[in-house]
Amino acid sequence: MSNENIHQGLVVKSVGNLYTVVDSESGQWVECRIKGRIRLREIRTTNPVAVGDIVEYEIDATGQRVITDIVQRRNYIIRRASNLSKESHIIAANLDCVFIVVTLDRPPTSREFIDRLLVTAEAYNVPSTIVLNKIDLYQSEELELMRQDFVQTYTKIGYRVLEVSAAEGDGMDTLRELLAGKVSLFTGNSGVGKSTLIGALIPDYKPKTGEISEVNNRGKHTTTFSEMYPLSEGGYIVDTPGIKGFGVVDIEPEEIGHYFPEIFRVSQQCQYGNCTHTHEPGCAVKQAVEDEEIPYTRYISYLKLMDDGGKYRR
Ligand code: GDP
Ligand code: ZN
Repeated sequence: MSNENIHQGLVVKSVGNLYTVVDSESGQWVECRIKGRIRLREIRTTNPVAVGDIVEYEIDATGQRVITDIVQRRNYIIRRASNLSKESHIIAANLDCVFIVVTLDRPPTSREFIDRLLVTAEAYNVPSTIVLNKIDLYQSEELELMRQDFVQTYTKIGYRVLEVSAAEGDGMDTLRELLAGKVSLFTGNSGVGKSTLIGALIPDYKPKTGEISEVNNRGKHTTTFSEMYPLSEGGYIVDTPGIKGFGVVDIEPEEIGHYFPEIFRVSQQCQYGNCTHTHEPGCAVKQAVEDEEIPYTRYISYLKLMDDGGKYRR
């Protein structure tokens, strides 16, 4: 039994209560609203529907398209609406990959920032790729040192590091291949060339200036809207204007080690099952750091995240 008035589509943009949806059957872009309450299965969020959501919509008696349901999300990335808030904001749903755009010194991206993003992506079950941009700025010896240090560190753990120059085009074909047919979120510190990169991939891309302010009944609030851009090879890029990366939300301290793949692997050999890898005797992780099997910088990021976890819980 099929109901001809029920349509399905992909949410590619949201502004206020208005959602741009690409209809799954016709490929047409339509505007939808939400009316009444949508059953929310998972979390308390400031935005009930996010870009990347697959939704069902109906056309009501007045001819308006109304979102009536959200298809179960495969994954989603959220951030806390503000530091004090218990509410979260869904940045995007149903992602195939997160691309973390970094530069090593112009501007510098800290290892801790990169590791935070990697951990968040792991925790939300989204594979991530590091895009090392602006390689045109380096001489060959500098590039070689960078490879031995940064690139090796992350590839050894199992992450892909892609060296590109958005300005000169190096590495862009490989990036295009990785993006084809997938929904990929781009994130990174400002200044790393995220807009330049997306602009090189999406010809009519116009970067948004960032956050859109909204006033709600709890006072002034800032809402950031993600937007999805279709790629000519199929798939979409999710741009997150104004979000300088996302923190780690709601990960229990004892879980943090699970999201550092190289720490998790070694932790099976710790003497205590609930080892936090900070002070315990017989800790295989600390031993592996000493033996340089686990990169020291990664261990430091781990300790900082553990520290933060403690703060959130107080
Ligand atoms: P965003 O803040 O991450 O969106 O960064 P932008 O795309 O605005 O780029 C910041 C600056 O870096 C701009 O001056 C760009 O022209 C420059 N830039 C971006 N990509 C490259 C690159 O591959 N090589 C060089 N040399 N500069 C770049
Ligand atoms: Zn341990």
